[in-house]
Amino acid sequence: MTTRLLLCFSLIALPLHAGDFRVGAARVDITPKDGTPLGGYYHFRGSAGVLDPLYAKTIVMEKDGTHAVIVVLDLSGTVRPIVAATRKLIQEQCGIEGDHVLISGTHTHSGPQQPRGSMMDDLTKVNSPPGVAYMSALPGRITESVKQAKAKLAPVNASVAIGKAEGISFNRRILREGQQEAIWQPKALTAKDRPAGPVDPEVGVLLFQGAGTDATPVASLLNFAMHPTSVGGGVKISADYPGVFTKLVSERHGPEMISVFANGTCGNINHTDYITGKRRSTLELGTALADAADAAWPNLKVVGTFAPRVRSEQVTLRRRTFTEAQIAKAKDMVANMLTTKFGTVPMAETVCILETLDKKDKPLLAEVQVIAISDDVAVVALPGEIFVELGLALKKASPFKHTFIAELSNGSIGYVPNKEAYPQGNYEIVSARGEAGSGEKLVEVALKLLNEAKTAK
Ligand SMILES: [Zn+2]
Repeated sequence: MTTRLLLCFSLIALPLHAGDFRVGAARVDITPKDGTPLGGYYHFRGSAGVLDPLYAKTIVMEKDGTHAVIVVLDLSGTVRPIVAATRKLIQEQCGIEGDHVLISGTHTHSGPQQPRGSMMDDLTKVNSPPGVAYMSALPGRITESVKQAKAKLAPVNASVAIGKAEGISFNRRILREGQQEAIWQPKALTAKDRPAGPVDPEVGVLLFQGAGTDATPVASLLNFAMHPTSVGGGVKISADYPGVFTKLVSERHGPEMISVFANGTCGNINHTDYITGKRRSTLELGTALADAADAAWPNLKVVGTFAPRVRSEQVTLRRRTFTEAQIAKAKDMVANMLTTKFGTVPMAETVCILETLDKKDKPLLAEVQVIAISDDVAVVALPGEIFVELGLALKKASPFKHTFIAELSNGSIGYVPNKEAYPQGNYEIVSARGEAGSGEKLVEVALKLLNEAKTAK
């Protein structure tokens, strides 16, 4: 009897969905076991203890049978083989096209490392048994979150507001008068110093709440650009400030709501105030962002929605080239790297040179993806740690009123500086895989895809 009733209801309910914009959201715990190799730095750290849990958080959107999925992981980023395996699994188990799935990472520096197919794997011991166990389970865990989110699809209204968090994020590259090379993360500034570039203070809020009389918040997508490095390089697991930010937004605006944080273009943005030397705590940063979202909440405006328009393109970038002297120096250094501690910048440079040599005959592929759900709202996925100048340019030129950017999505090619930053050198530049102009190329492709999505019927 019960079964028959349920069947009747579902038969009656089905046609009602045609034309509705529906959303379902879920989160699945992806906290690793102790001993799992952590990411974020150039050496091995096995996890020991948990400050706060890590999640795979998922928003599934659907209208007229077309789906789009946004997954954000509390991890340092995403790597292509895991993204590919996960998309395949989602396609098989959830019936959603793999290329309609966006998978991003918050860039927490207190979560598991992922294999990169470079000497980073040796330095971080990511291929040790605990690392392999974690990574082989990950596609299944993400797929589980998509399954749960899809099962909860229900009609929603979408609304958007853009808040501002001023004075909590800082450009970590500094130019000193009379000096060409940028200074990276200085301890203190002098009167001759100025930031090499801007920050992006915008706090994007995209809210989905039940349509009709039931206006319960279902999911929110939150967007801000800043490195999550406030917990530091210890061995305890943490989602860093995005964990606090999303937890507070849900507590304050909808206990059942899944709040998902996508990191914006924060390649050169940190939380240290280089003028005063002040470093806000994880709690302070997350709270400041939640307060900024609160201030924006009354401005949330409902936007018309259409069936998700998803576009993506694989861009082939040119790898950087190196002099014989640079190569010789890197080879010399690598012999001692597992036993001797070097500074972050020379380590990064050596890893990059040797990886580039190793892969010089393979194309440097970068996926740019766009998900538009409204004439006013689109999400752009970029595959690396993108300099803020590129993100600001992309937002400004976008044909959409509100453009959310999720960096470190769908695999990562590492740091992606803007063209002007290359001659200024230092950490992000010596780490960059693509030659100068790669970032501008990604922005150009993103704009092309945004325009296609905007005008599609
Ligand atoms: Zn980073």
